[in-house]
Amino acid sequence: MPDTLAPPAPIAFIDLAAQHARIADRVRAAIGRVLDHGGYIMGPEVRKFEDQLAAFVGVKHAISCANGTDALLLGLMAKGVGPGDALLVPSFTFAATAEAVALLGATPVFVDVAESTFNLDPASLAVAIADAKAAGLRLKGVIPVDLFGLPADYDAIDAVVRPLGLFVLEDAAQSLGARYRGRVAGALGDIGATSFFPAKPLGCYGDGGAVFTDDDALAAGLRSLRVHGQGTDKYDNVRIGLNARLDTIQAAVLIEKLAIFDDEIARRQRVADRYTDGLDGVVAVPRVPAGYASVWAQYTVLVDDREHVAAALKAEGIPTAVYYPLPLHRQTAYRGFPCASSGLPASERLARRVLSLPMHPYLETDVQDRIIAALRRAVR
Ligand SMILES: *Cc1c(COP(=O)(O)O)cnc(C)c1O
Repeated sequence: MPDTLAPPAPIAFIDLAAQHARIADRVRAAIGRVLDHGGYIMGPEVRKFEDQLAAFVGVKHAISCANGTDALLLGLMAKGVGPGDALLVPSFTFAATAEAVALLGATPVFVDVAESTFNLDPASLAVAIADAKAAGLRLKGVIPVDLFGLPADYDAIDAVVRPLGLFVLEDAAQSLGARYRGRVAGALGDIGATSFFPAKPLGCYGDGGAVFTDDDALAAGLRSLRVHGQGTDKYDNVRIGLNARLDTIQAAVLIEKLAIFDDEIARRQRVADRYTDGLDGVVAVPRVPAGYASVWAQYTVLVDDREHVAAALKAEGIPTAVYYPLPLHRQTAYRGFPCASSGLPASERLARRVLSLPMHPYLETDVQDRIIAALRRAVR
């Protein structure tokens, strides 16, 4: 390259500034209204956002909370999970999925994922259930994760776990806005848990989360657990709970973000389609099964020599990320928990090969074409 040319502008992995620029005035006004009324905790924006979110997901109850990890914790607590219980979780996920189980003194039992979808493998699930029964574990439920924005296969999971009376807690932290056979992510289990961490598809400007359910009794339990287990008398707590409320300011931001979310989902799909057109046959690209729609929290490809590829992209100013370099059953804190006896070979192979590319609704086509061209050169 002649040195008279300026180096190409740096590329953002997730461009939160571009997202903000579009709604900056409205967000400032919304936060200003909260500053004016001063209801920082459980102010009117919280309930308004919950109502809009419940309508978006198509559930009776959306209960906002402090973050996605608390959403999982609240879901498990509402189901009465405690010491001596066991929950089936995929190993190839973010730590919070198993952390919420272990924090309650329960045992996560690690299950493998399908290499083609990154999501819970129903065959491995059946093995892990048989193992857990043989070991005398008290199985309570399963936490499928909709990894990278693609829903897990809930029909196949239900077929395995429903006859045993297990509950399904959907970890929809990455999948809000995704679809599965005519249903919406967040509404695919007995309870759904999501996160509004800034980098998630629907992100706020700090931490946030929500729990979804159609069950009135569970919803009442969740609302109580979110505020220290409070009863109808505020100072007579009827259960052990958390301080897990969503800040009013974050709810105000989320109302503005939700208003443009459908458009952002469509933009994410266009970005994913362009990657797939440019990269299919060059690297292993993510596949969306018929009847599913991913919300593309990540666009994750599989490569053989990941270090070389990531370094080659970095040299051209292109950031990448590895979600996740170590499956949970290999991590120090989680090594001691049981795994499906058939092993977790897909989780281990994926951990060696995954590479996530820049992905956000405002990724411009010329920038994307630079990424595609650089990746094609890197793997040649
Ligand atoms: C982000 C994430 C969580 C936790 O959400 P936080 O808001 O960061 O607590 C849980 N599960 C998965 C799969 C996630 O990606």
